[in-house]
Amino acid sequence: MPNPKDFAILFDASRCIGCKACQVACKQWNDLEAENTKNRGSYANPPRLTSHTWISMRYYEGLKPDGDPYFDFIRGSCMHCTHAPCVTACPTGAMAHREGGVVTVDEKTCIGCRSCVQACPYGAVHFDEARGVVQKCTMCYDRISHGDQPACVKACPTDALTFGTYQEIRAMAEERVRVLKERGHTRANIYGLRELGGTHVLYVLTEHPSQYDLPKAVREAEKRAATGWLSAGIAAAALGAGLKFIVERREALKGGNQ
Ligand code: SF4
Ligand code: SF4
Repeated sequence: MPNPKDFAILFDASRCIGCKACQVACKQWNDLEAENTKNRGSYANPPRLTSHTWISMRYYEGLKPDGDPYFDFIRGSCMHCTHAPCVTACPTGAMAHREGGVVTVDEKTCIGCRSCVQACPYGAVHFDEARGVVQKCTMCYDRISHGDQPACVKACPTDALTFGTYQEIRAMAEERVRVLKERGHTRANIYGLRELGGTHVLYVLTEHPSQYDLPKAVREAEKRAATGWLSAGIAAAALGAGLKFIVERREALKGGNQ
């Protein structure tokens, strides 16, 4: 479970209007390149996160069990997991937890092996071909470590996003679920309390998480974790062998030059 004083974000799906102000603010603050996109019959655009899109709104529509239509929105991004598979998979320690439980990548140490990309259950980390390193949401660490809010939270016009300590955010989520249930949203729930040791981004949902692909995403990634960790292990082993070879070769060359 996250430390009560850790940083956290609440995404309240019952307040979100799907306007993408958060997605745009993220692009703007982090100076992320625009991407060529096309209409695929959904408002989600681009359809998934990329190395240049660190937040992507997802759209879900259909009929509830009682026949009422729904049109719901989910903020897709890094969840800043406590037991983060990306951190476990990283062979160089480039992907790591920083103060406040935030997961970031150190570009100087990243070797671009992409073990973290395979390991992430949420598809939140991507390789940037041009820079040769991976990229993802940093929870605006450059802002929050100076007492400001993440850019997405600041831009949200409906207070669907809130930033605070984990303790505050969790209490807020619990209170919101209580209110929603009182208002007839009997399936209201909090997502992120148990997943991967508790995530630093919590969701308030009005429907079961399966409606938004969430447990599926985690289950699939957990399945991938077995193979992902395996391949990460292989990558780490290969890296270790590679480094050993380089060191031995360097030593041999030094010896030859003496
Ligand atoms: S969501 Fe993915 S990238 Fe973010 S901390 Fe969890 S495993 Fe790592
Ligand atoms: S800015 Fe707020 S309301 Fe708009 S899409 Fe993002 S979370 Fe939803």
